[in-house]
Amino acid sequence: MIERGEWLFDQGEFKEASHSFATATDAAHPTTIRGEGFLGLGRCELNAGNADRARTHLRSAAKLLDGTPRFGEALYHQGEAFIELHSVRNAIKTLDQAFAYLQDTQYRARAAYLLTLLYRAARNEEGVARYEPFTRGLDTESRELSYWRSKIHPTVVPTPGETFAATPRAPKKGWPTAATSVPIRSRSDWRARKMRRGAVAMGKVRAITIHHTGEASSPNVNSDGELRNYLRNMQRYAQSTKGWADIGYHYLIDSRGKVWEGRAASHQGAHAGNPRLNKGNIGIALIGNFERVKPTDRQLDTLQSLLQNLCVKHSVSMPRVYSHNQRRKSGGLGMTDCPGRYFAPLIPKIKKRLIASGALPSSLAVHDPLDKSTAPLGYAARFRDAVDRMHAADGECCPDPSLTTDESVATAE
Ligand SMILES: [Zn+2]
Repeated sequence: MIERGEWLFDQGEFKEASHSFATATDAAHPTTIRGEGFLGLGRCELNAGNADRARTHLRSAAKLLDGTPRFGEALYHQGEAFIELHSVRNAIKTLDQAFAYLQDTQYRARAAYLLTLLYRAARNEEGVARYEPFTRGLDTESRELSYWRSKIHPTVVPTPGETFAATPRAPKKGWPTAATSVPIRSRSDWRARKMRRGAVAMGKVRAITIHHTGEASSPNVNSDGELRNYLRNMQRYAQSTKGWADIGYHYLIDSRGKVWEGRAASHQGAHAGNPRLNKGNIGIALIGNFERVKPTDRQLDTLQSLLQNLCVKHSVSMPRVYSHNQRRKSGGLGMTDCPGRYFAPLIPKIKKRLIASGALPSSLAVHDPLDKSTAPLGYAARFRDAVDRMHAADGECCPDPSLTTDESVATAE
């Protein structure tokens, strides 16, 4: 029964497998067989996305398998179920216990890996340091796990009483480190007009979206004087023609790599496509039309430094840094050319470069789930639903009833 169940499980026939495992749980069977039956049932339920039922089976499995070689496995999968149930503290406790009992190297590495992620999400560097060494040597499956890892981070919430000491990790030696501060030319530098009424306060920053300015003919603005004119025109257009409170973007980066302040970051922008997407979302635009030309190296270097500063300042992790078209897609809007075919593919590279620089705290230096080159999809099939549910619940999608402003009707770009 068990062998057949395991074989079916390996074939991905979870329904059939659970029939076999269920037979094994019959009270007439020896304790170990029953325990293995519950263990199989729990794993099948995990695959079906029924974490609660999985946990019940796995708890029975752990009771029956205590003292046998598979006890650790029962605990390990219980830990997985706790993760799906968003119970971080229980997940850590159970996986920690599992780790002590697991014999199989792959299992041990996985338990350590999940513990590392949980501790990292909880910003407990001591815990990370304790388990990280055991995750070495994980092969393809660890790469697949990184998909899941990258998704859970923004959604793990501390439960009262948990330690959340934010300790930035020391930069890795040998990696280029991004500049620690970026000079920003203020609004008064380009003699901005006042912001008009109607802009909404920014509130908690949750995302950053990257654009190009995308003028039909790529603007040829290379001196401070030209930039000041350019920004004043942009503001006039935004306020008078579009009827917005101000320029839509918060920061603009010129071809020389200098940063100019657009709309004050204290207020929500008008750049992502609609008020819901603009909420808590900083807009950065590189000046140029990158459907036609490439951004300059200096623009990209500055973008990296600016991202570093903003991400640290507002605790925005890498998967929450979007290109405009990604952001629209995440909000169910149609595609746009922005930020241009010569720029869009560079954004994941800038993010990777920033992660590699070691300049971000480990809690923010998370690889992008959409980036298949670092995080192939696969292993995490059974986590996907749970993760999507968590994402849907993270507050971005709630309409803001206080929106009665210019941007509530206007659309950026
Ligand atoms: Zn855009």
